[in-house]
Amino acid sequence: MNIYVMVDMEGISGICRVSQVMQGQPDYEKARRFMTWDVNACVEGCFEAGAKKVLVRDAHSCGFNFLWDELDPRAEYIQGESRLRRMPELDSYDGLILLGYHAMAGSMQAILEHTMSSASWQNFWINGVRSGEIAIDAGIAGDHGVPVIMVSGDDKVCAEARRFLKGVVTVQVKKGLDREGGFLLSKEKAHRLVSEGAAKAVRECGKIKPYKVRHPVRMRLELVSKGKVPAERENLKVIDGRTYEVTGADVEQALKML
Ligand SMILES: [Zn+2]
Repeated sequence: MNIYVMVDMEGISGICRVSQVMQGQPDYEKARRFMTWDVNACVEGCFEAGAKKVLVRDAHSCGFNFLWDELDPRAEYIQGESRLRRMPELDSYDGLILLGYHAMAGSMQAILEHTMSSASWQNFWINGVRSGEIAIDAGIAGDHGVPVIMVSGDDKVCAEARRFLKGVVTVQVKKGLDREGGFLLSKEKAHRLVSEGAAKAVRECGKIKPYKVRHPVRMRLELVSKGKVPAERENLKVIDGRTYEVTGADVEQALKML
């Protein structure tokens, strides 16, 4: 069993403030260590359950967040940009873990909720269904026949994951109180939950179906600001002064057109 892990930062255990997830901010350097610890706990669980190969992509912001010299030596890692594909070499993997993810934009009492960009994305739909990053990444993986087997983060993203993905293992490492506040666990407890969840997900991998989005894929984006909607062109329709819609052959292609 080969396992792919996408790692975001907002849903990592111990993280509940914007200053922890932005490079250059006072709490960021420490939070990178929290992220690295969750990664190592996840890798541990995957190998414990018999994974042959684990590839982990640092997927938050510019992709330079993991402390490379503290990563578990058994896995392989992707850091930095990947403009061509969001998940390079995904086709040779059997299951995808979304580690440290967050609830979609507009979710209530959800830690650091947003969809792709807090600054510019207000609301987002895939084929008419209001969606967040869980559906985006599960949809991209689904187009390659790969199921999302586990999601970790706060209680809101876990509920969102269960709503979209039947049979997915969810690991709640914190509970949202506000956009920048929540109930946290100790690091020992959070890491144990991540390891146990990853092991369970790897064991159940064969039973979980990929998330299939109907093609062609229609994505509608409502922006935060006025006056930013692009001009109409082929496969791009303007809905109103803040909203437009694109149609792409698959999830990743539609996403690139936004
Ligand atoms: Zn992020």
